[in-house]
Amino acid sequence: MSKTLWIKSPLAIFTANESDASNGLVIKDDKIIELVASGLQPTIPVDEIIDASDKVILPGLINCHHHLYQTLTRAFPPALNKKLFPWLQTLYPVWARLQPEMLFNATQLGLGELMLSGCTTVADHHYLFPAALTEAMDIQVQASAGIGGRVMLTRGSMSLGEEDGGLPPQSTVQSDETILRDCERVIESYHQYSGADKNSPTVQLALAPCSPFSVSTELMKQTAQLARQFKVRLHTHLAETLDENEFCLQTFGLRPLDYLESVDWLAADVWLAHGIHFNDEEILRLGQASTGISHCPSSNMLLASGICRTRELHHAGAAVGLGVDGSASNDGSNMIQEVRQALLINRLRYEADQVSHRDALYWATKGGAKVLGRDDIGELGPGKQADLAMFTLDEARFSGSHDPLAALVLCGAHSASDVMVAGQWTVRGGQLLTADIQNIQQKHRKSAARLAMQP
Ligand SMILES: [Zn+2]
Repeated sequence: MSKTLWIKSPLAIFTANESDASNGLVIKDDKIIELVASGLQPTIPVDEIIDASDKVILPGLINCHHHLYQTLTRAFPPALNKKLFPWLQTLYPVWARLQPEMLFNATQLGLGELMLSGCTTVADHHYLFPAALTEAMDIQVQASAGIGGRVMLTRGSMSLGEEDGGLPPQSTVQSDETILRDCERVIESYHQYSGADKNSPTVQLALAPCSPFSVSTELMKQTAQLARQFKVRLHTHLAETLDENEFCLQTFGLRPLDYLESVDWLAADVWLAHGIHFNDEEILRLGQASTGISHCPSSNMLLASGICRTRELHHAGAAVGLGVDGSASNDGSNMIQEVRQALLINRLRYEADQVSHRDALYWATKGGAKVLGRDDIGELGPGKQADLAMFTLDEARFSGSHDPLAALVLCGAHSASDVMVAGQWTVRGGQLLTADIQNIQQKHRKSAARLAMQP
């Protein structure tokens, strides 16, 4: 018989909903079965109790946008201090040399790094399929299984190379037909549908043309059709920079959102990375369509792209989540740090009393779950998945803080003490239990050095 576990009396707990769990929560198998309100005890007998009186508990954090392969080109000298388009043009030829074991190591390193920061669900956008890497999705499925969190692997694509007026070099693009055939293959091989069996999905697939400036119009349309046929989600980059606005106006005679609508992508099964340069009317349309936005604060700051209009999007009805974005445009894959970045960048756009640390935590949890179309994760409540992150405030940086939940964000927490996914511990005492992170790091460093070497 399976045991019940009471994680008792946390220092603070954020449920991402209205429920009171001041006295902790009870877990059985992969689910939370009870929240324990202030001054109360569990209503059912428990087999094991963990004292959490020195821990802050959050729902497992959800990263809505990343490019794990980019962990191999962090702080890469030729790409430093550049805007998005020149930054991409510098890195594309390097990324074109990616080899299978490099992607495997990058996926494990990035997922391990994220897990240690309290992140239990990661959406990765992989759009590079040079000749050596046509099985990128298979590699990522294998690699992620070794780390143990939930993944939403998006089968990206680029079909518009330099020769056709696109941005990426020809060696990194595939034909529309090859792309669509592989999309179908990987969905059929790996996508787990919600409710298909008793378990909550750990591996999901989505379809994700890289951006309007790297795929054909026809591919955008056909990808949407295919995703709807298979009932998987759609993802792309949109409205990240003003250069992109300019590109869309020149190439299609349309602003990015109008273009998106013209290819049948303004819909509830779509989430967009960045979503910065929308006007008021476009924000209302996004809200009416219930399209999701992955706000990527660090990346937007580093590439000087702009600031997402999170509050207007949220009020219009669009779900807002957080993404660390590619490690090369952020140089970190740390979700709890991204929560702090989100709070800070939003304070540049809004008044201090309009955005709080709780808003930033909400985006990183329940907001992210909505963006990824999930209702079984992202919050703490009966029947929800037991995905949690716990943090201790015992470092010098927290000393003298008074509100533990605010301290987590404001004083700059960077690593979780304990993480649980579907009722299983993946991190205890700050150590990854599912894999040897030192060993992964060693292999990853070698891969990065090889990739950076000129051929
Ligand atoms: Zn991105």
